[in-house]
Amino acid sequence: MRHIYLDNAATTPIDPEVVQAMMPYLTDHFGNPSAIHGFGRRTRAAVEKARRKVAELLHCAPGEIVFTSGGTEADNMVLHCAVRDLGVEHIITSPIEHHAVELTAHAIGRNGDAQVHWVKLDAVGRPDLKHLEELLAAHPKALVSLMHANNEIGTRIDLQAVGELCHRYGALFHSDTVQTMGHYPFDLSTLPVDFLSASAHKFHGPKGIGFLYMRSGAVLKPLILGGSQERNTRAGTENIYGMVGLAKALELCCRDMDEHQHHIQGLKDRMMRRLKEEIPGVGFNGDTSTDSLYTVLNVRFPDDGKGEMLIYNLDIEGIACSGGSACSSGSNAGSHVMHALYPERPGANIRFSFSRYNTADEVEHVVGVLKRIFVPVPAAQAVR
Ligand code: PLP
Repeated sequence: MRHIYLDNAATTPIDPEVVQAMMPYLTDHFGNPSAIHGFGRRTRAAVEKARRKVAELLHCAPGEIVFTSGGTEADNMVLHCAVRDLGVEHIITSPIEHHAVELTAHAIGRNGDAQVHWVKLDAVGRPDLKHLEELLAAHPKALVSLMHANNEIGTRIDLQAVGELCHRYGALFHSDTVQTMGHYPFDLSTLPVDFLSASAHKFHGPKGIGFLYMRSGAVLKPLILGGSQERNTRAGTENIYGMVGLAKALELCCRDMDEHQHHIQGLKDRMMRRLKEEIPGVGFNGDTSTDSLYTVLNVRFPDDGKGEMLIYNLDIEGIACSGGSACSSGSNAGSHVMHALYPERPGANIRFSFSRYNTADEVEHVVGVLKRIFVPVPAAQAVR
């Protein structure tokens, strides 16, 4: 059976060149980077080389990059530590953030450590900047946390505009860039952000490694205590092969970014066009303009009962997709994003997410399978 992977927003396949770069650190070079002997010095050099490479690709200083276990930890660190270390009294965020931000904000609010304010969103999930400005004006000492692109619906915000607004009011600005890092260029020498979170497994790197960009003027103390690693900002023996793999994966993404973007945007456009041609009543959730995240397409299938088990039925056909980040059935019941934006919208909402490894032929195959599910063949034709 043919297997087609269209769940790249959940995780991406690792690039073979990344595996190759990591291999020496899984085999020969095993020294603890904190050790002073040659084994340790060799891996310490690899860690710092990876950090320099990431900083070079993002146009920031190496000291502004802190490796973490992934996007979840980076998000948690920013929210918790900004409140604890930087005098933040208000967190301004949105109801469609990834749970790593949304649930952390709820926990901080519940504990009474800071007040949490939820910015209004437009119909496709973009923050209402007028409301954001009102919140900023009313609540000094704020941290704003708004994701660059939504992992379920692909709506992308204007980091420059939001960052400028935050800074005009003296607020700190954090953006979860887990879905966009490696897919768009970042110039942190000019972009008005204080913190970014990223995760290697979303851009063809290994799992269990990510980073936090922490602008030099907004330094957080560690969330995890127990050692002086990561220049005293994150304790724990380093995931050396992860760091090496992350840097390599980001390098490959940045090297061929235009080509990847062009290819993947073409797949998304084709999928939208072909679904509209073949399946009456199909619709899309979130922003689908060229401003949106080109790797994600969230499709709303007709509410005719056939969507109920759609993810399972597609899986039986060898097609991997998802119903949102935390939703395991074909319905939208498990998605806080769908609930916040489209509480009344019936039908099965399915996320197809693409990578540079997908092809137009795969898209055609998936559309063909979906057509078979949703568009019954007339009886006369079926018997012939
Ligand atoms: N933020 C967003 C937007 C994500 O999509 C994800 C992963 O699904 C995360 C954070 C969590 O990242 P990680 O898997 O590295 O913890």
